[in-house]
Amino acid sequence: GQCVLVCPTGALGEKDETETVVDYLYDPDVVTVFQFAPAIRVGFGEEFGLPAGTNVEGQVISAIRALGADIVLDTNFAADIVIMEEGTELLKAYGEGKRQLFTSCCPAWINFAEKHYPEILPHLSSTRSPQQCFGSIAKTYLPEKMDIDPAKVRVVSIMPCIAKKDEAGRAMYKKDGVRDVDVVLTIREFARLLRREGIDLKSLEPSTFDNPYMGGYSGAGAIFATTGGVMEAAVRTMYYAVNGEELEGIEVTALRGFEGVRSAVVDLGGDIGEVKLALCHGLKGVRAVVEDVLAGRSDFDFIEVMACPGGCVDGGGHLRSKKAYLPHALKRRETLYEIDKQSNYRQSHNNPMVQKLYDDYLGRPYSEKSHELLHTHYIARQQRLKQTIRDIWNDITMST
Ligand code: SF4
Repeated sequence: GQCVLVCPTGALGEKDETETVVDYLYDPDVVTVFQFAPAIRVGFGEEFGLPAGTNVEGQVISAIRALGADIVLDTNFAADIVIMEEGTELLKAYGEGKRQLFTSCCPAWINFAEKHYPEILPHLSSTRSPQQCFGSIAKTYLPEKMDIDPAKVRVVSIMPCIAKKDEAGRAMYKKDGVRDVDVVLTIREFARLLRREGIDLKSLEPSTFDNPYMGGYSGAGAIFATTGGVMEAAVRTMYYAVNGEELEGIEVTALRGFEGVRSAVVDLGGDIGEVKLALCHGLKGVRAVVEDVLAGRSDFDFIEVMACPGGCVDGGGHLRSKKAYLPHALKRRETLYEIDKQSNYRQSHNNPMVQKLYDDYLGRPYSEKSHELLHTHYIARQQRLKQTIRDIWNDITMST
């Protein structure tokens, strides 16, 4: 970019957020808590020449430790929390006669809604994204349990997603000016940081997550990264909430297609019965769904939106092959479904550490404490487009 012109050595180009992470790692007063997204373990190997869809969870954990991190945890844990909150919220709203509720874990979708369709905002779940739920729990519950001064904690996220950077900087995700998530690295930045420190992912022995109070994840949390995954995870927990027993045939294959907008009818049982779900990925199809809802033409009950085609497994931060886009995305997705299959527990509400978090700290889903830490609000940000030079000139002369 421009810095090439002013800085022929490229030194200015090196200034990115990896520097801030390195500063934290070298500061003895700082306790670094790392999280990485569900999609990273299936997309990151390609940065180091491994085949698409290789599960490198254990190597990513080792790589973060090799950098000198204090605590390595998983965004999947927070995905389970999101399901506890969002599942409760959707059922509650449904019970009150509200329909057409949208999921809220994709910040690019939130930005799109805030800027282009502010009237849709009341239909959005207020549950924060997994990244932000992780951040607020890592700065409150975790230090309390571990007896660490929360002011020393710095949360670093590794995400497949560029929109997560902007999300982490928003005012509603700060307490007294301090961010819940201090730095977000994209996959590419993380790869650059490892190369710079001479860490070769391929040669690392896999290791396991630290487990203090925010550990473990369900298969439901793992599939968050693919289109349809959040809804499938929510269905598993909502079904349990309605019926007091687990959904048989846990894999909701009706939700697992790949078309831009899909719909499926799922029986939640009990007083609720059948609900109609929509799964949208890529923002193109979302417009039509949103406009239908606003015009009263939609009969969907719950709508999942992921801005990237394929969902986070193919988010903007990943390596992307133009030629092999779909085969690669599908391989990553297959691995996620495999992780789900191999999980000790496959529903978010069965994650023992999530249960403990509620018992010890939050009380119950959708409680007052949950609202403070795990829910948010949205802001209409519709911008007036400046059509002509005359408009701009009028604005300038009026403001002087
Ligand atoms: Fe980010 Fe894309 Fe995932 Fe949305 S779908 S959270 S923009 S990676």
